[in-house]
Formats: sequence, structure tokens, C-alpha cells
Amino acid sequence: MDINFWDKKVETIDRHALKILQLKRLKETVSCALKTQFYKARLKKCGINSANDIKTLEDLKKIPFTTKDDLRECYPRGLLAVDMDDVVRLHTSSGTTGTPTVIYHTKADISHWSELIARCIIATGASKKDVFQNMMSYGMFTGGLGLHYGAEKVGMTVIPMGGGNTKRQIQLMKDFATTVVHITPSYMLHIHSKLAECEVTLEDLKLKKAYLGAEPYSENTRKKIQELFKIDAYNSYGLSEMNGPGVAFECVHKCGMHVWEDTYLVEVVDPKTGELLPEEKEGELTFTNLTRRATPLLRYRSRDIAFIHKGGCSCKRTHRRLSRITGRTDDMLIINGVNVYPSQIEEVIMKIPEVGTNYQIYLEKEGSLDKLVVKVEIYSKMFKGDLAEIDALKLRIRDDLRAAIIIHPIVELHEPGSLPVFEGKAKRVVDARVKL
Ligand code: ADP
Ligand code: ZN
Repeated sequence: MDINFWDKKVETIDRHALKILQLKRLKETVSCALKTQFYKARLKKCGINSANDIKTLEDLKKIPFTTKDDLRECYPRGLLAVDMDDVVRLHTSSGTTGTPTVIYHTKADISHWSELIARCIIATGASKKDVFQNMMSYGMFTGGLGLHYGAEKVGMTVIPMGGGNTKRQIQLMKDFATTVVHITPSYMLHIHSKLAECEVTLEDLKLKKAYLGAEPYSENTRKKIQELFKIDAYNSYGLSEMNGPGVAFECVHKCGMHVWEDTYLVEVVDPKTGELLPEEKEGELTFTNLTRRATPLLRYRSRDIAFIHKGGCSCKRTHRRLSRITGRTDDMLIINGVNVYPSQIEEVIMKIPEVGTNYQIYLEKEGSLDKLVVKVEIYSKMFKGDLAEIDALKLRIRDDLRAAIIIHPIVELHEPGSLPVFEGKAKRVVDARVKL
């Protein structure tokens, strides 16, 4: 086996052969989708009654988008395409914001998903020699089990710790010489802030790599994590509707995430009009899963905003690269009429050296206006306790933010460890404005 690839043939497939494979798999997926109540009705309406009605990849455009609401309406069995006897696992969303959604998997679906994860792990230069501590929650959330199966496939030593229990995480990292972790970026920053309390130094750890995902974060946060731990951090992207992690992952060159195009047909569309956008144009990622048999999904609107990079990658993988996810269509904030993504705020504050490992964006009303308060923890050791120095830092953060997002924030500086901590996906934004 070539140590740089898990499945060299597929990972370096030439683009023409890839298109042929995609078309073959799209036809299979359509034929499978026609077995579900939902797509049977929907595809008929657009004149697709069998896989033979798909002649080229262009025919994908005839198929309407599938949305999260469609998935909710289909709960619990409207999108099931196989006998329940053939389902080996299902994952549901939490349902805190409405009816839950469900994705079923056959044995072959799980196996294929694990193959994708194995590709991702090898692409980062990790191998069976590594000790892998999975700090993503297990259970219904796909982050835990998803990476777990792939890491076992590679033959890594897996520590299935799940999220939370920071002191134990640190102890395990030390005792078992963990070399690779899978974790949310916000929790990784928190882990760093707890090392001293646990009397553990970087020298006590053997950490080399972190796979960071499940929530939006900025390039400056990656840099900060790399510097704090002296490791390489890789961006990992996925969504439960497309299995979970393993949709796109960075290789050692860290220049965008290779999206496994033999499995995911990716389109970037204008979130308002649905119009297809070219490479390098930012829009909403839309995915068609080409291999999952238990729950086929065609043109699923992810709500995630990103673009596709032009050109190849020096690693020789031919699958195109996604940019960092800059936000979700539903997490854009409108503050006094100005559109702001939380990631823009993070990008600014995480490059300021005095800023610590946690922050919060707080919105409230002041009269008829919106007030934006950015609360940041600071490294107190960097200060002599001089008030003038603290005021100067506040002003510097405020001015940098103002330059990036146009609006004027109020900056609050907080002691390390005083803002809320999240062990899974962080909730950085608290919107206390009265909703009309
Ligand atoms: P949800 O968060 O919608 O309840 P999931 O648990 O499936 O559901 O999480 C998937 C979402 O997490 C993605 O749609 C995306 O918004 C976010 N996400 C996952 N990985 C990344 C990443 N590397 N960068 C930014 N956002 C990510
Ligand atoms: Zn690459």
C-alpha cells in the first residue's frame, strides 16, 4: 500500500473517469430514491420515472432541491429506501428546533462511510501507528461513531472517550501518549486552558495532530491551536444528512478540504435564487449522496456557505477542495441592518495575542437600536494590571472589529475561565434582542 493514500485508485482518479463513475452512481441513486415515498412522488413530477431518465450529469438540474424541512416531513420513514431488516444503524437529529430528522444506514453504507474516513486520516499523514483520542460525542451525533469506525479501519489505537470530562481527557492523553485528537475547535482551546491546572505540560504529551470540525471557525483559530499545542490542525467537514464527518477533509497541504466526489456530488448555489455558481464563487453547498442506499438524498441544501477552489492539489488527489465554511445561511446576524457572520468577528479577535481561548457574541436592544457586545477572555498574565493598558487593548479590539464588520461593538474583557464552556459544538452567539 502507498502510505500516502488509503485508496489511491479512487483518490487520484482522472476527472473524466470520475464523471463516468458519478453518472453511474447517480443513476443507481435515483433508482434507489424512487423506492422511497417522498422521491417517488417528487421525481415523477419532474418527469423522472426511472434511472434511464438520467442520461448525463446535467440531468441532475431537473431534480428539485431537498431541504431540511423535507426531511422533517418525511420523519420517520418517508425517505427509507430499503427493508428495515437491512438497516444496521440510524442517526436522528436532536429535534430541539422542530421535528427530528433521521438518516438510516445499511451495513454497506456504514462500511463505505468508514472507507471515506480512512482516506481522510491517511491524507493527513496519520497511520495505524497513531493513538487516536476521539473527543467528539458518541451516540446520535455522527461525529463520534463516524471517525471511530474509520480510525479502526486504518488500524489506529482508538480511545473512544467522547466529549467532556476535561481532566480525564488530559490524563488519558498523557497516559496513553495520544498522537491524534478529533475535537471541536472551541473545546480544543478549552483543553489548553486546563493543562496547567492538571499539572500537564506540552512535553508530557505526544500530540501531533488535531482534526477540528463540527462548527465554523476561522483560520486564525486554527493558527492559534497549532501554536498553543505545537501541532498540525486539519479542517474536517461533514453533516449528518451526508453521513457525518468525512464529506471533506484537508490533506497535509491544508489548502482547502478535498470533498470525496465519487461519493458526494457537490454544487454551490446562490442561497436566494438557487442558481448554480462557478468555482471560486461563494454560495450554499448542496450535496447529492451517490452511494448511500438506505436513505438517498438528492441535491440536499446544507445551508453551509463556502466555495470550491480552482485547480489541483500537490498531493495528487483529484477530488476538488472546499474552502473553509464561513457560516450558515441561518447564522448570519443582521445588526442595525448590517449583515455580519460570527466567523468575521472570530477572525479578528483570534489574531490578537492577548486574547485567550474563549469569547462570546452578545446582542441586545438599546432603544430601537441593536447593541453588539463582544466578550473576550484575555490572558491575564500578559498584563501588569495597568488600567491604561487594558483600555488600550479594548480600543484596539474595538477598532479592528469596526474595520472588519463596519458596526461599532462594545468590547468587554473577561478573566480566563469566566465565559461559558462547551464540550461539543459551541454556542458563541447569545441574541437577547426581542424578536418581533
Ligand atoms: P446540526 O449542527 O445542523 O444540528 P450536524 O451535527 O449534522 O447538524 O452538523 C453539521 C453542521 O456542522 C454542518 O452543516 C456545518 O454547519 C457544521 N460544520 C461541520 N464541520 C464544520 C467545519 N469544519 N467548519 C464549519 N462548520 C462545520
Ligand atoms: Zn491535497
